[in-house]
Amino acid sequence: MNTAEISEVKALLSKPKNIVIVPHRNPDGDAMGSTLGLYHYLKLYNHNVTVIAPNDYPDFLKWLPGDETVLKFETQQKDCNTLIEKADLIFTLDFNAFHRAGQPMAEVLEASSATKLMIDHHQQPDDYAKYMYSDVKMSSTCEMVYNFIEMLSDVEKINSTIATCLYVGIMTDTGSFRFPATTSRTHYVIGNLIEKGANNSQIHNNIYDTNSYSRLQLLGRAMQNLKVIPESRTAYMSLSQAELDEFNFKKGDTEGFVNYALSLNNIIFAAIFIESKQDQIIKISLRSKGEFSVNEFSRAHFHGGGHTNAAGGRSDDDMQTTITNFISILPQYKQDLIQ
Ligand code: 5GP
Ligand code: MN
Repeated sequence: MNTAEISEVKALLSKPKNIVIVPHRNPDGDAMGSTLGLYHYLKLYNHNVTVIAPNDYPDFLKWLPGDETVLKFETQQKDCNTLIEKADLIFTLDFNAFHRAGQPMAEVLEASSATKLMIDHHQQPDDYAKYMYSDVKMSSTCEMVYNFIEMLSDVEKINSTIATCLYVGIMTDTGSFRFPATTSRTHYVIGNLIEKGANNSQIHNNIYDTNSYSRLQLLGRAMQNLKVIPESRTAYMSLSQAELDEFNFKKGDTEGFVNYALSLNNIIFAAIFIESKQDQIIKISLRSKGEFSVNEFSRAHFHGGGHTNAAGGRSDDDMQTTITNFISILPQYKQDLIQ
């Protein structure tokens, strides 16, 4: 956003408006942290603001301040439609194409005449937003919401509630400050958020140390299923619906599993394949180290996308066919994988 656009946004926000804030479907820590962080900021100006999540999210995010105000489009469609219809402004956070909200919400967003503002760090943004703050180099959308508040000359308005929300997304999207998008600026922002009252140790506890016994057992099964393809420096694992059922799978339980595959010595490309009988797909998470772009890989082969080093996708084939297909594609990328 340039200076003129920032002034326009400032003017727009100077009077109370009907505002809806939307994260992507299957919201993660960055999606919920950024939407709720922005929610608490806009509330300070007496806007009529609601976060509408396309669907539900994992329990480890439910302690976030403001969680109880979040509407879920999937189960509260009527109320959500009314709010979207009445909205003057719609912020889309942590995604950059309407289809990432899932149907039928994507269509409702598309049809809305509200002014759209995008804050996002994914690659290849669509062109729907009047005000677009899109930067693929950013660690997280939460870091961008901090910057957005700074652009509006309001850093001093960040209180412990806003700081807590923004801390969550920076922490989860950077793998606790270790992925390459973590910069000195990221640490500066985090330092400031702690200064403003984010309780870093408590937040880490709330997100990472609330494992159920069955989740750890499921992790054990995923580890047993781990396969390595050394000639492509690739590792992958899978979880069938039967295995998920055996360990009483709940939303969010498989979050982070794929990183264990990437932690193997010499491995720079990792995948996890998770069966969903309900959606009749295999959900795929892809991670890489260095230059190899899992965003490109997923767009080319698995109907997905994301970032250079972290992307998602899906397959409509069964598990075995999906994995066989995945393995058969790898030789095309030999040059990129043997860096
Ligand atoms: P995950 O593997 O954790 O589901 O997703 C990794 C990253 O890729 C996240 O930033 C997520 O938002 C993004 N992502 C996941 N699935 C898709 C997809 O289908 N399309 C796009 N463009 N991004 C995705
Ligand atoms: Mn993000």
